[in-house]
Amino acid sequence: MGKERLAELRSQLDEINIEILELLSRRAELVQEIGELKKAKGTDRFDPIREKEMLDKLVAANPGPFDDNTVRHLFKQIFQASLGLMEEEKKVLLVSRKKRMEDTVVEVNGLRIGAGQPVIIAGPCSVETPEQMDTVAAGLQPHGIQLLRGGAYKPRTSPYDFQGLGKKGLELIRKTADKYGMSVISEIVSPSDIEMALDYVDVIQIGARNMQNFELLKEAGNVRKPVLLKRGLSATIEELLFAAEYIVSRGNDQVILCERGIRTYEKATRNTLDISAVPILKQESHLPVIVDITHSTGRKDIMFPIAKAALAVGADGLIVEVHPEPSVALSDAKQQMDLPQFEKFMEGLRTSGYLPKENL
Ligand code: PEP
Ligand code: MN
Repeated sequence: MGKERLAELRSQLDEINIEILELLSRRAELVQEIGELKKAKGTDRFDPIREKEMLDKLVAANPGPFDDNTVRHLFKQIFQASLGLMEEEKKVLLVSRKKRMEDTVVEVNGLRIGAGQPVIIAGPCSVETPEQMDTVAAGLQPHGIQLLRGGAYKPRTSPYDFQGLGKKGLELIRKTADKYGMSVISEIVSPSDIEMALDYVDVIQIGARNMQNFELLKEAGNVRKPVLLKRGLSATIEELLFAAEYIVSRGNDQVILCERGIRTYEKATRNTLDISAVPILKQESHLPVIVDITHSTGRKDIMFPIAKAALAVGADGLIVEVHPEPSVALSDAKQQMDLPQFEKFMEGLRTSGYLPKENL
């Protein structure tokens, strides 16, 4: 007898489940209609006051055996699912591959970044002296380096550390690059300096510490100069893409993304290079992606394998810090390669097939 009763009760439950489902579906259709009306009126889909009213009514009509909190919980789930039905399609970002299938190629005086051939950006951490800049540029040029880096505005952790030469530094790197037929990339930290920097730099660098300096991003978006945007120290890939969107949405679509390592608990390297960010960014976005192998590792002894890894996973180029005399450098003394080390590094990349054998 017990068995028959169980089967009967179960079949009643099955029927009720179907009835609940039918009611939920009917409810969902009403919600969708309400969503359309709200869309036409431009009002917010989520109405917490209305939600509270509905919950209060349900609790007041609660016949048991569920307690009031359980009723609230169950219906909140239903409300949430309904809100999902009303949600607008997420806005597709301009930097997204969904918006543009083809790769963006950023062109800097004939150098094409993101066009298939890896680009090596090299130079010292900071612009220091005319001699330092001249020596380094003279040493880099034979390796086909076309984009010379060097910071004039240095975002240092300590206010007592060398802060950079400022505008004088920009003048100096420009002069050096012109002498050796190179282009200039240098970091700008203040929105009010973007306009001025246009006279000196070919690529505006926005550093990790400023990835979410939205006023700086907006100013960089207002000009028509390529921008290299570094990933923030603790920024997610999504946040990097949103930061790039700030620039592109203002009309400047010449943006290069840069993975430069993120903060983790690991102390063996200066930062933890998020190598998976490279193929993910390449998939999610049409913008070129380069890897800063110097700031991510902070270790010269592993820069070569890391460089190969970055290029192997699809990076469009690398940033490498090179100083004629790293031990006396005014910033990042430990991590910069000297010229013979850089030569060996480039030779290694060529012989292992990561760079073309002939001079770039
Ligand atoms: C730099 O490239 O000079 C620099 C300061 O790097 P980051 O912003 O990635 O720390
Ligand atoms: Mn540095």
